Amino acid sequence: MSDFVDKLHAIVGERGLITDAQGQHPYLTDWRDNYLGTALAIVRPATTEEVAAVVKLCAALRVAIVPQGGNTGMVGGGTPHENGHEIVLSLNRMNRILEVDEIGYSMTVEAGVVLKTIQETAARHDRLFPLSLAAEGSCTIGGNLSTNAGGVQVLHYGNARQLVLGLEVVTPHGEIWNGLRALKKDNTGYDLRDLYLGAEGTLGIVTKAVLKLWPKPKDVATSWIAVPSPEAAVTLLSGAHAASEDNVTSCELMSRQGIDLVLKHIPGAADPLAERHDWYVLLEWSSTRARRAGANETGLSEKMEGYLGEALEKGLVLDAALAQNETQARAFWGLRENHSEAQKREGPSIKHDVSVSVSKIPAFMKEGLLAMKKALPECRPVPFGHVGDGNIHFNCQSPPGWDKKRFMAHSEAISAAVYDIVVAHGGSISAEHGIGQLKVDELAHYRSRIELDTMRAIKRALDPQNIMNPGKVIRV
Ligand SMILES: Cc1cc2nc3c(=O)[nH]c(=O)nc-3n(C[C@H](O)[C@H](O)[C@H](O)COP(=O)(O)OP(=O)(O)OC[C@H]3O[C@@H](n4cnc5c(N)ncnc54)[C@H](O)[C@@H]3O)c2cc1C
Repeated sequence: MSDFVDKLHAIVGERGLITDAQGQHPYLTDWRDNYLGTALAIVRPATTEEVAAVVKLCAALRVAIVPQGGNTGMVGGGTPHENGHEIVLSLNRMNRILEVDEIGYSMTVEAGVVLKTIQETAARHDRLFPLSLAAEGSCTIGGNLSTNAGGVQVLHYGNARQLVLGLEVVTPHGEIWNGLRALKKDNTGYDLRDLYLGAEGTLGIVTKAVLKLWPKPKDVATSWIAVPSPEAAVTLLSGAHAASEDNVTSCELMSRQGIDLVLKHIPGAADPLAERHDWYVLLEWSSTRARRAGANETGLSEKMEGYLGEALEKGLVLDAALAQNETQARAFWGLRENHSEAQKREGPSIKHDVSVSVSKIPAFMKEGLLAMKKALPECRPVPFGHVGDGNIHFNCQSPPGWDKKRFMAHSEAISAAVYDIVVAHGGSISAEHGIGQLKVDELAHYRSRIELDTMRAIKRALDPQNIMNPGKVIRV
């Protein structure tokens, strides 16, 4: 295989190749430390043409390719298998912003640009790129698009699929498809762009994208709210749409168990309310309409305060704190966004990234919590998530003192109990994290024959040698 590595070297040069064990390690394992693979090499091309040349070489030798961005995925999609017959193709050197079109509200970027850089670039142009998630400091746009990432503003702006206009993709044959069109309307046959979005690197490698931008919000109100139940949370949200004049941009639900973990593990985290409560909502409204200084008009904060006051009288709200400035709003967000990190520091957890329609959340939560406890009475449920779009991270923390092996022995039973309830409510077993290698069996179990057959037909047609991230999403 050293001949193969030499050929890779001839394409990407010294900077584009990692072959030593220490340098390779971060690319071979995942954020959750659930998978550890091996690879012939880590290849880091600097241009689309280099990506295409690497893929052509791999196609000729039938070497499999695992595309990787920021490696923050939750389902092992970017981690190679243990067989050592794959390369990891990292996009992290392709990190240039190519164009910002203020008039057309779009931005063209390379796939390896970190999400936060895109948000900050948009803000400098008085625009908003609304994709926002806790891993935004290290995940890349290529990974976001390939997992069809969701995050905390989906209820208003949609998920990654809705935020992109055009793509450039290197196919499994090493050809470059230039679909970098900044068009809002384009009905010219099958939508190839949509095929690659959410494909988790199994159909091709995203190398560039044209992203949609929005006007930057000028007035933002953020509240930390204690609610008596998930039912109260969804009723509060339902009324908020009209009360905010359709300006609800985030609505996140958390339980006391999750807050306790964040307070325990994240330095500087503080409870915004004096008393403990079982359930919390983080509600954010944003408007592009600036409040005129000195003008006698009602801004979003006053409107939100009025709405929460009414909700308090109706018993939907137990207590609330309205952020008085950006620092306070960021502190509220810190409590929500540090849930995954706090869970990781606490020890092993079993994650269920599920969705049901918003109105079914209360029934799902009730039945799901009972089912989880029945499957493992000692487990510690930590449900939280994007209640505004029906996506709950219905997670289960190991009992105190249990090691990973002992806890994971229960994972199949716990997950089956949860997923059966999700499906009974018409929901999805993977709302935003994807399938990767973690949920290949579950996808095969819960999706219909016609859906699986169609997915396999697409995979075989586009990647007949099965070299593009094999064993992820669907087995062929
Ligand atoms: C703390 C934390 C919070 C998170 N919160 C959220 C959240 O709120 N919402 C959400 O949706 N996700 C969330 N995630 C999951 C993760 O951040 C997202 O899935 C993210 O979109 C992955 O981007 P990445 O660049 O890290 O991709 P990777 O992890 O590197 O890759 C993910 C998948 O995409 C493929 N891939 C990567 N780049 C390309 C490319 N250029 N072309 C083709 N395939 C490619 C990989 O093969 C893999 O299958 C969170 C993760 C963490 C650690």
